[in-house]
Amino acid sequence: MTVLVVGAGPTGLTLGLDLARRGVPVRVIDKAPAFFVGSRGKGIQDRSLEVLADLGVRDEVLAAGRYSKNRMYVNREYSHDVDANVLIIPQWKVEEALRDKLAEHGVKVELDTELLALDGTTSRGKIDTDYLVGCDGGRSTVRKLLGVPFEGVSEDDYAMLLGDVEVEGLEADSGHMWIGQGFYALTPFRTVPQWQVQIVSLDDTSTEPSLEVFQRLFDEMVGLPGVRLSNPTWLSTYRVNVRMVRKFRVGNVFLAGDAAHVHPPAGGLGMNTGIQDAYNLGWKLAAVINGEAGDKLLDTYEVERRPIAEWTLGTSSEGLQRIAEAVRQGTGGIEAGVRPEHRQLGLGYPDSPLSRTLVEWDGPTAGFRAPWQESLRHKDFTLLTFDDVRVLVRPDGHIGVVGGPDDDLTVATYLTDTW
Ligand SMILES: Cc1cc2nc3c(=O)[nH]c(=O)nc-3n(C[C@H](O)[C@H](O)[C@H](O)COP(=O)(O)OP(=O)(O)OC[C@H]3O[C@@H](n4cnc5c(N)ncnc54)[C@H](O)[C@@H]3O)c2cc1C
Repeated sequence: MTVLVVGAGPTGLTLGLDLARRGVPVRVIDKAPAFFVGSRGKGIQDRSLEVLADLGVRDEVLAAGRYSKNRMYVNREYSHDVDANVLIIPQWKVEEALRDKLAEHGVKVELDTELLALDGTTSRGKIDTDYLVGCDGGRSTVRKLLGVPFEGVSEDDYAMLLGDVEVEGLEADSGHMWIGQGFYALTPFRTVPQWQVQIVSLDDTSTEPSLEVFQRLFDEMVGLPGVRLSNPTWLSTYRVNVRMVRKFRVGNVFLAGDAAHVHPPAGGLGMNTGIQDAYNLGWKLAAVINGEAGDKLLDTYEVERRPIAEWTLGTSSEGLQRIAEAVRQGTGGIEAGVRPEHRQLGLGYPDSPLSRTLVEWDGPTAGFRAPWQESLRHKDFTLLTFDDVRVLVRPDGHIGVVGGPDDDLTVATYLTDTW
């Protein structure tokens, strides 16, 4: 049985890697002719770092990222420092780490290969596939081919200019964010010369991104002489869409990451949620393909990830409103959209049929992330014993069952129970 992963962004690469390390035949295709080099989602949340640790790429990601501060300036005057609280790293460096690890498992991303039909027809011929996963981003071809509606709204009145440039004349030991008639943020990275530019100008909302525009807006909004921007490697405009699919699964076709949900950038959740979608689906697909579980297990992907997607849309939309308000009042910028729960450590699947708390205890209940991540076997199930309570932890680090000494906590029962 082969899984065809469509799209080699963070979601598709995570899924490809999780399947490959479990011995599942997988192919990962991308229509792009070359790997994308743009910083895009630049924050790795704590929960994603745990996932990346399990996939064997945490060290590489930590080495290419850093935890830094943002220096805040209000009306051109230094105001205060804000901790970023996420690992700052260009998205493409995360993708590179995942891709390298995937290649170690013998799977190379097939570039310039566009999916054209759900039977596996691509621009380079047909790929025989038993399961197909659309990790093909917000404009997902897979979603369109399935005819699954992408319900929600597009907010055209909010546009953020984005890009990667080199910056001369500013300290690169922290990010810098200027507030006043919008915001202008410059974030340096640890191992590449580019900085990410993010600009929302309340005076100038229709401008297309270019180096000249970035420099002009810097001079107008910040006015620090001697700061020069150069060598742009990525230019983009981010428009807010808040949308989610009605179905995450149709037969043997699944949707994950931006293909299934898109939302404002507030809180830095986009790439992280995609990585965690893939991590939820990977072990389940492997269990079914390896004959350890029935097809019904795959229905729990949507059951578990839909509430997370709904939460993500809600919290990032609220975050965007807080940012807009803070910018209007001149009291804050992007950090106003961040909440502690965006670290995603408290997310869980308490209402899933896969979550069973059979005995009362003081520890975490079934469905939530097991707090003992470093001691888990991860790729497999782990059975932990605490006095008279036993805890079966799933391969994705979430608690499956909390039971007593007489409860059946075998993996075979868990995977084949009639839930
Ligand atoms: C301009 C921009 C700025 C962003 N800024 C932030 C931010 O600041 N913070 C944050 O958290 N998130 C941000 N995001 C969101 C974040 O980048 C996404 O959430 C993340 O990339 C989603 O990953 P993904 O793998 O699901 O999809 P993507 O990264 O979009 O990857 C999809 C892949 O599928 C491929 N593909 C598409 N169609 C086909 C097809 N038919 N056949 C084969 N391949 C196909 C594409 O080439 C692409 O490589 C930004 C996104 C954009 C576009």
